[in-house]
Amino acid sequence: MKELRLSRELSREISEIYQAMESDYDKVARKLSFSCDGCPDNCCDSYFLHHTYSEWAYLWEGFRALDEARQQELMERSKRYVVECEAAEARGERPQVMCPLLDDGRCSLYSHRLMVCRTHGVPASMRRPDGQSLSFPGCFRCQKIVKKKFVHDSQAPHVERTPLLQRLVAVERELMGERLHLYPRVKLTIARMLITGPPTISTPHCERAGIEADV
Ligand code: SF4
Ligand code: SF4
Repeated sequence: MKELRLSRELSREISEIYQAMESDYDKVARKLSFSCDGCPDNCCDSYFLHHTYSEWAYLWEGFRALDEARQQELMERSKRYVVECEAAEARGERPQVMCPLLDDGRCSLYSHRLMVCRTHGVPASMRRPDGQSLSFPGCFRCQKIVKKKFVHDSQAPHVERTPLLQRLVAVERELMGERLHLYPRVKLTIARMLITGPPTISTPHCERAGIEADV
């Protein structure tokens, strides 16, 4: 197994994509006079799954920068998180467990938190690679604001996610190479990304001879 590490350029590109996501989010939030301040909910207990090797590797860059004691603490919390989620799923429920990275309302890996953590809240739209358009109404509080201010939801400002998602897909392709489609799909919570360790790949069976010859 070989660890997937981001080159300096790819790491910088992810950081820039994330900053652009935040900036797009903030513009729409400002137009809607929306913020999370005073919200009775906390979206960090939402059961989000994440889907790219690149974000997984970037999360690990942030995690490795923490001191050992802190890493240990977050790892223990992540293990408990996974056990609680599995118990909820065994009961047939969607897990709702606080993210192990949340500390006194603050994210322990704020600058390395994943895309979903940066985009959930305000209305957004995106076009999938197969051409299908998707729209997201935003969180329940934001939907209330939109309903009050606009006759129809479509009139509300929203984030167009497609260009930044395309950039993230380009990073993923660069990291994984032409064989991206041969590797297992990532579908992991942040806690799983931590307890599994940094992303690794083995040579796909159908390609093994070819890769060994390349290396
Ligand atoms: S995104 Fe919406 S629901 Fe989530 S914490 Fe912010 S205001 Fe509350
Ligand atoms: S990574 Fe940070 S922002 Fe994302 S859910 Fe966990 S605590 Fe919240």
